[in-house]
Amino acid sequence: MSKIQMKNAVAELDGDEMTRVLWKVIKDKLLLPYVDLKTEYYDLSITERDKTDDKITYEAAAAIKRLGVGVKCATITSNAARVKEYNLTHLTPSPNGILRGELDGTVFRAPIFVKNIKCNVESWKKPIVLGRHAYGDVYKNCEIKTPGPGTAELVFTGEDGKEIRKTIKVMKGPGIIQGIHNTDESIKSFARCCFMYALDKKIDVWFGAKDTISKIYDGDFKEIFQKVYDEEFKDKFEAAGIEYFYTLIDDAVARIMKCEGGMLWACKNYDGDVMSDMIASACGSLAMMTSVLVSPNGEFEYEASHGTVQKHYYRYLKGEKTSTNPVALIFAWTGALAKRAELDGTPELAQFAEKLEKATLATIEDGIMTGDLARLASPAAKKIVNSWEYIDEIASRL
Ligand code: NAP
Ligand code: MG
Repeated sequence: MSKIQMKNAVAELDGDEMTRVLWKVIKDKLLLPYVDLKTEYYDLSITERDKTDDKITYEAAAAIKRLGVGVKCATITSNAARVKEYNLTHLTPSPNGILRGELDGTVFRAPIFVKNIKCNVESWKKPIVLGRHAYGDVYKNCEIKTPGPGTAELVFTGEDGKEIRKTIKVMKGPGIIQGIHNTDESIKSFARCCFMYALDKKIDVWFGAKDTISKIYDGDFKEIFQKVYDEEFKDKFEAAGIEYFYTLIDDAVARIMKCEGGMLWACKNYDGDVMSDMIASACGSLAMMTSVLVSPNGEFEYEASHGTVQKHYYRYLKGEKTSTNPVALIFAWTGALAKRAELDGTPELAQFAEKLEKATLATIEDGIMTGDLARLASPAAKKIVNSWEYIDEIASRL
């Protein structure tokens, strides 16, 4: 057959360890035989990031902005142990942090459903996509353990020197206080990213905060979301037949447990941290989660939500063909190719991405799967395979 052509390239960000190994197998067996793959390649391996002082990561971010679409392999975030292991010159910051900062983006995560892996929440028939605001609040807090009686105050000093001062509490004994913040700019970007993602997927948006208790702080979130919606998205949402729905966070949680799924749940930073783990665990495996970073300008970077699967990599280095699940990595590629196809108007490429996703899931539904899924499957797996065998099975169905 003649290969499917691409009009424009996607930025390809290679990574580390087991996911880097699988990245190449996926390309060789599932993409290159069918697609005349156009990518701009950036090697984000830990050694390359160390050598270039992270210049490579900034270049990759610039490429995503220029091309509009990127696909990323999992990467090591360095720590003292990694510096020793890879003989690095210094501790480099998290590449995902750099990319998020450069693109000013929000990460959206959604579980991938297959018939033979049961979700623990029976009412969830469709994936719940979770969008977490990844800036501020308790993650950039300032805390004091107060030693004894005294007055805790909140003070803002304007550039003009004017003060706004409020008493938090006149404290009779030792205790704790905490200061947190957010910015209108960041909340606006977050709201835009959420509405953009939902419009792209044609799904409703739910947002919950605690504005009855936190009238100013959470109230600001609620107001900004409403304003961005009314001014920039209302008409587009109505045309697409989707809705924006605000409710109190506790009401949102109660409704989520009884809903069918199939919406984007926008969460403040802490809520998103906690609730994304709840959704992931209810749906089974870390390798069955898609993840995409969306910028407020409409740039998309697709990745797997798991890490480099370090333990499997060490076994692989000893010669073992590990049973590492490549589904999330495959879906990172199909997400990026489908987005490229949509932007370029190339339906053959979109169809290919869809067929590859179907073949990937059909293999599991046929009872052929990696070990992580075999632990959860009902009916039981017919055949537990290693990553290479699994990818071959997908290729034969494709
Ligand atoms: P991890 O790579 O996500 O793996 C943790 C464990 O989860 C694995 O040991 C494995 O469990 C299971 N697992 C994850 N993905 C799997 C898959 N595809 N198939 C089968 N099992 C899978 O997290 P980690 O070991 O904590 O982190 C390793 C490195 O990844 C770290 O250097 C970290 O900095 C980096 N990291 C990168 C990203 C990213 O780039 N997006 C995200 C998170 C972590 P079993 O061992 O029980 O089989
Ligand atoms: Mg968490």
